[in-house]
Parts: sequence; C-alpha cells; structure tokens
Amino acid sequence: MDTIQHSSDDAPMKADPVGAPRLDRRIASRLKRDSKGLVAAVIQQFDTHEVLMVGYMNDEALRRTLSTGRVTFWSRSRQEYWRKGDTSGHVQYVKAVSLDCDGDALLVEVDQVGAACHTGARSCFEAGGPLSVVVGRRARDEEQPPAELRHDAQRDAVERRERRETR
Ligand SMILES: [Zn+2]
Repeated sequence: MDTIQHSSDDAPMKADPVGAPRLDRRIASRLKRDSKGLVAAVIQQFDTHEVLMVGYMNDEALRRTLSTGRVTFWSRSRQEYWRKGDTSGHVQYVKAVSLDCDGDALLVEVDQVGAACHTGARSCFEAGGPLSVVVGRRARDEEQPPAELRHDAQRDAVERRERRETR
C-alpha cells in the first residue's frame, strides 16, 4: 500500500491525493511494468490496421487513455504526461485497448488525425524506413493461413504497391 504523507504546510505530496482516481486494480495487477513503471503501447489505426507508432504508459497514462477517449503517454524524455495531439493537433481517438498475454505491452486501436510521427510522416515506421532483410518463406507442407487471410494479404500487397507507385 502507498503511504500518503500528510503535511501541515502546502508542500507538494509525493503520493496521489486521497480520492484521486486510480487505474482499476484488476487491470493494474495484470501489468508487468519495466523498472521505470512503464509498459509499451503499440498504436494502430483501427480500420486500416496500420501500425502507427510506439509509446510508453504508466498506470495513470493508461487510466486516462481508458477513460477519456484520448491517448495519453508518459514521455520518458520530458518526464511528463503527454496527451497526443494537444500541441500538434494530431489527436488519437481511442477505439479499443488490449493487453498482451504477459502484460508488458498494450495494443491501442485509434482513429489518428493526420500524422502519428513528429516528423510529419503518417507512421513512425514509414519515417524510419525499412531495413534490408533476408526474406523467409513457409514450406509448401507447412500449415497455410486461412483463405480469407491470404486474400487480405494479397489485397494489402497490391495496395502497398499502388501507394508506392503514386508517390
Ligand atoms: Zn515518429
């Protein structure tokens, strides 16, 4: 339990004031935070499934994200809460939040206004760009994805190609 220091003067208190909203204990107990109390949050456009960016959340940032309709991160560089879009206008409206199997990462599905990346790119991964890789391929006798996923993948590949060609 947190101990709350009561003081007679107006000195700032370390613990949250009594009665301040807290992250639901059932959710908090499932989080596996890093040494700084943070979990990674993967941000995805809810309808196109583009992976937009990765940020970090502490319990309070997650509480705000779950309860306000807007994504809030904890900024590791500035050591402060950062509600996406407040300065840039590039707001992220929350559609759904999932916790991964071992509790150390969040998937936040959003409706992203404009660019997710501070560089002005739609996604941070578009901004960073692809690395060269050795492409792996599944063997013919390995389990194949369901037909509908194969069609999605095909359509995605075509769309990616079209997007590249129109640049
Ligand atoms: Zn970025």
